[in-house]
Amino acid sequence: MNASLSTVSYIGATILFILSLGGLSNPETARRGNLFGVIGMTLAVLATVLGPRVTPAGIPWIIGALVVGGAIGLVAAKKVQMTQMPELVALMHSLVGLAACLVGFASYVDTSTLFPTEAEKLIHEVEIYVGILIGAITFSGSLIAFGKLSGKIGGKPLLLPGRHLINLVGLLVVIGFGREFLQAPDIQAGMMPLLVMTVIALLFGVHMVMAIGGADMPVVVSMLNSYSGWAAAATGFMLSNDLLIVVGALVGSSGAILSYIMCRAMNRNFISVIAGGFGSGSSTPSAATGTAQPTGEVTPVSAVETAELLREARSVIIVPGYGMAVAQAQHTVCEITKRLRDKGVNVRFGIHPVAGRMPGHMNVLLAEAKVPYDIVLEMDEINDDFPETDVAIVIGANDIVNPAAQEDPGSPIAGMPVLEVWKARTSIVMKRSMASGYAGVDNPLFYKENNRMLFGDAKKMLDEVQAALAA
Ligand code: NDP
Repeated sequence: MNASLSTVSYIGATILFILSLGGLSNPETARRGNLFGVIGMTLAVLATVLGPRVTPAGIPWIIGALVVGGAIGLVAAKKVQMTQMPELVALMHSLVGLAACLVGFASYVDTSTLFPTEAEKLIHEVEIYVGILIGAITFSGSLIAFGKLSGKIGGKPLLLPGRHLINLVGLLVVIGFGREFLQAPDIQAGMMPLLVMTVIALLFGVHMVMAIGGADMPVVVSMLNSYSGWAAAATGFMLSNDLLIVVGALVGSSGAILSYIMCRAMNRNFISVIAGGFGSGSSTPSAATGTAQPTGEVTPVSAVETAELLREARSVIIVPGYGMAVAQAQHTVCEITKRLRDKGVNVRFGIHPVAGRMPGHMNVLLAEAKVPYDIVLEMDEINDDFPETDVAIVIGANDIVNPAAQEDPGSPIAGMPVLEVWKARTSIVMKRSMASGYAGVDNPLFYKENNRMLFGDAKKMLDEVQAALAA
């Protein structure tokens, strides 16, 4: 494939990626968006492998890598549970970071590229230094995020004394070594500052994510998503690959927009997040250990009673959370919705932006179960409707319906907008025990007079509700 055909293919792939992102912004067009992405990526890989910069001797290596990587990806995608998706995504971000580091070191030691001017060589070295820096932060930060999301590392924030100072000193050292790196007369001399910076960047990534408390994790996940895009863009600069630069920038900026949305949902300041000060939000340690002690009396309810309440209701709002994903209860939820709607009940869903363990988690599950999109509403669209609602049913959600966010200024989740289910005539919370949610805080909703607790696995309980409704 000659250079101009390769360029045309790159432009085609870029357009497909933009169409893909556009499609993914809406559940109805998400499938098409995915397809555009797949075609775009196939085109991009073919144009690169068959393009002018790959010699025939390199092709078997690329095919070998594709087979190994593709096989691992296929097995992982088949094996992974829906509830493990956030961890898988974090792991994938870490691989993008690792790739940026490896490409950075490889292009530094590669002497085959000749630079016509000193300025061009300098720019290339700046690209390498910055690329490895972003890559290393993304790599180690994403690995820690993986650990936290999978519960392998406790969710409690690690707040080292003077941690902002530590970060500042790290930054100054990175800048100092950057100067030394750029002034190095040869590769051997430049390797030492490059390696020191990489180690500092790795430690920074660990420190940054370790300092985040449970309730702030969504912001970190979307920030790392953005970082992985910038790491890919940096790799594109190092390899002078325009497509990688464009795609990296698309991922980086869409991740940044997502971070902004998540910040708003969590009531966090976007600028302080960008500046890396987002550990401060958790200076009141949020336990994230699920150990907060219950502090009141609750009123349990049975599945049959729940079915009765639903049967008598004219309007119902369902609030799904992480527990629905764990129980894989979305299909039963859909069947109950259908049954109630057939009886003329106005059933709608209220989706909190950070429900579950990844952005859009609930939307994905409900779309999988074929719940009609027009009854799935965002928090802002539905929150004012609770006072006119007969029954609000909370399925495996906890933090996102916690009134302490509004009522208790000392709560670790204070200020986070929540779905105001307690304003419905009756709210029913479906969960297995009195355990707290991801943020590790007790939930005063459970003790409210108009609240009922339906204890048990969400799928099992909903099956019983469904059977009672059918009887
Ligand atoms: P929570 O983690 O607050 O609560 C989930 C509840 O589900 C638990 O209290 C648990 O209680 C219950 N549960 C678990 N398994 C089952 C089951 N099989 N059947 C019934 N109930 C079950 O989830 P929310 O969705 O309310 O809130 C999301 C939280 O996750 C927020 O704190 C958010 O910050 C955080 N987060 C979100 C991310 C995102 O991108 N969306 C990423 C990372 C963190 P019990 O054990 O008693 O059953």
